[in-house]
Amino acid sequence: MVGGASAGGWRVNYHPVTNDHCSDCGDLMEPHHGDGRCPACFDRYLFDIEPGFLESYRKFGARSRLILAETCLRGLVVESPEHRKVLAMTIFEQYIGAMGDLAGLFQAFRNRELAPVVRSFLEFKLDAASALNFYAEIANSSDAQLCASLGLPIPAFAGAMAPHLDGEDTRELEIAVHHLMLDLRKATDQGDEAALALAQFAGQVDNAIIANDAKWLDGLGADVTPDQVAMLVFDQRRRSLYVQGLTADEKAMGRVVDGIDTATRAASNLIYAYLQTHDL
Ligand SMILES: [Zn+2]
Repeated sequence: MVGGASAGGWRVNYHPVTNDHCSDCGDLMEPHHGDGRCPACFDRYLFDIEPGFLESYRKFGARSRLILAETCLRGLVVESPEHRKVLAMTIFEQYIGAMGDLAGLFQAFRNRELAPVVRSFLEFKLDAASALNFYAEIANSSDAQLCASLGLPIPAFAGAMAPHLDGEDTRELEIAVHHLMLDLRKATDQGDEAALALAQFAGQVDNAIIANDAKWLDGLGADVTPDQVAMLVFDQRRRSLYVQGLTADEKAMGRVVDGIDTATRAASNLIYAYLQTHDL
């Protein structure tokens, strides 16, 4: 039924009143229910909350993935083989999330003159094109080029570019940028193949179901070894299930947690350096 429900012979209209004015500036905009902002006011709002958003993400949001992954890694040692696979998958998801966030932040800072950092970051999607672009951008740029594109000073020019900082804060900024350059390269040093694998998992992980084994899948999961967790992905285009085995091995998971640590530290230093450089 369109337009409302029929109750005891009465038609009840549930549609609330629409209005077509921006609740911030009053300009005309598309009809909407309740409060709504026009695109320009929304961007202004996002610019206003940018320092608070970034600082909150740095201190809590970014770290949440590492906290979860480290907790799962500690659990790997004591859990049953089946539970280890669940923990391994969770660790892997945190890695994909951390790398996606780092790539999104990187892109958002590079794009900061064109769109609010918060909007670019929240709209960012890790796919083959954006992952390859992120890895290539870092591989093909010098430290000085990376710093310039992110709005940061190279360490030697921290004092000149951020004269509002005192000696100790300048030194902290130099250290943050120095570590940021190392970590950006460390996070992406496995090249195109790793970028594509990351994008592929990012596209699958939300729709995937995990299984303890894939023996029941008519030979489809024959490659999945007993120590691996099977990730089942529904492929509508090819009308099949796609099976990916992921190791639940403690050493391999330790390396994945290292990767999360690197990506988290890079995101944190990127935000810290940006806020300090621009006195935000
Ligand atoms: Zn407006």
